[in-house]
Formats: sequence, structure tokens, C-alpha cells
Amino acid sequence: MVSDRTQSRPSGHRPASTPATVAAVEITVIDHPLVAHKLTVLRDVQTDSPTFRRLTEELVTLLAYEATRQVRVNPVTVTTPVASADGVRLALPKPLVVPILRAGLGMLEGMVRLVPTAEVGFVGMVRNEETLEPSTYAERLPEDLHGRQCYVLDPMLATGGTLAAAVRFLVDRGADHITCICLLAAPEGIERLGSLLDDLKVPCTLVLAGVDERLNEKGYIVPGLGDAGDRLYGVV
Ligand code: URA
Repeated sequence: MVSDRTQSRPSGHRPASTPATVAAVEITVIDHPLVAHKLTVLRDVQTDSPTFRRLTEELVTLLAYEATRQVRVNPVTVTTPVASADGVRLALPKPLVVPILRAGLGMLEGMVRLVPTAEVGFVGMVRNEETLEPSTYAERLPEDLHGRQCYVLDPMLATGGTLAAAVRFLVDRGADHITCICLLAAPEGIERLGSLLDDLKVPCTLVLAGVDERLNEKGYIVPGLGDAGDRLYGVV
């Protein structure tokens, strides 16, 4: 069940985002006109690949602003030309950004634009088109992720299986804080992600630009935007 935690907001206050929780996963759907505008153009079948790639990057940068709200920082003091000032710097170990190949790669540039000092690891996962179950075909990640905050990038949360498998992978290596950034999700995928990660022992957050109506019989999000990998890179 999705529980909406914004219901007690004072009337007239327009939230920038809508947080909710599904089992162990906290979900934020960004409510912002620029996000809605870019997502609408992205959905349009007339939008060509170069525009689709650019808009994906721009959208991810906007989502990343909210997704990094809990990024760890340490207090520091710097000297300005006038006086000393208290501030913060990103803590070590550096955040790890993990795009899920292939389509997550199209989100990487938009993410590292906001967090240029982040490190990047890769997970290649493919969904069996009949069973819709994910399997890992490539992986390039640090062996030890203890103390790491990880940001998983995957544009489409459809059945939830791939994202859940990627989160498990990272937590099994020691990651202690996971944030998933997706453009679109199906309600079925959100529910399944929550149930597959029900016993997760570390905080897990999901940040989205939108939640659509449903999945179709082929596992596509409706109305969605089609196959994100194909639209980013052309049909292989
Ligand atoms: N993956 C996609 O690229 N699109 C969908 O609609 C579902 C999964």
C-alpha cells in the first residue's frame, strides 16, 4: 500500500514533491512544472533521439537535486575574502552513482553534472522478455561498498524486478544508503519493488518524475514513453 504522508500539509501549500512509503521504500514524486514539461516532450513519439537524450539529462539533474537531499556532508570552515564562514563539504567515501545498462547510461551525465565528485560503477541487467525476470550480464563496481551512499539510475520502473535486484546487489556489498532515480514508474512496479525489498535493512528512497497508469501485457508502462533504451540510442 502507498501511504501518502502529505495529507496533513496546511491547505493552500503546494508541495514541491510527494513523499510516500511502500514497505521499506520511501517514494518521492517530483511535482514541478519544469519536470512535467520536460517529461511531456520526452513522452512524445515525435521527439527525436538527440532531443530525448538532452531532455533525459536535464530531467535527471532536476530529480538529482531532490534525490541528494540526504547526501552526507561534513562541517567545514572556509575563509572568505571578508571573514571565516562555516559550511559543509561532501563526506567521504564519495557517493557512488550506478547506472543500470543500457538505458540508465542516458541518465549518467545529468547526475554527475550535479555531483561531479561522485564515483561511477556499472551494472548491466537485462529483462527476459517472456518471464520479465532480470539477469546480470555485466558488473563493474567496487568490491566493498561499506559506508557508501549509492544512487541507482534506471529510467523506467516497470515490473520492479531489475531495480530490486540492483539494490540487493549493492546492499550485499555493504552499501548502507540507496537512492533510486527513475523517470517513470508503473504502480505495479512500485508495489513489487516494495515487496521484493520488504526486509531491506538499509534506507532506500525512490525519486520519480511521474507515476503512470499501468503496465501492459508486454511489460511496458502505459502511457509511458516506449522503450527508453531504443529512444535514447536507436534500435539495436
Ligand atoms: N522499459 C522501457 O524502456 N519502457 C517501458 O515502458 C518498460 C520498461
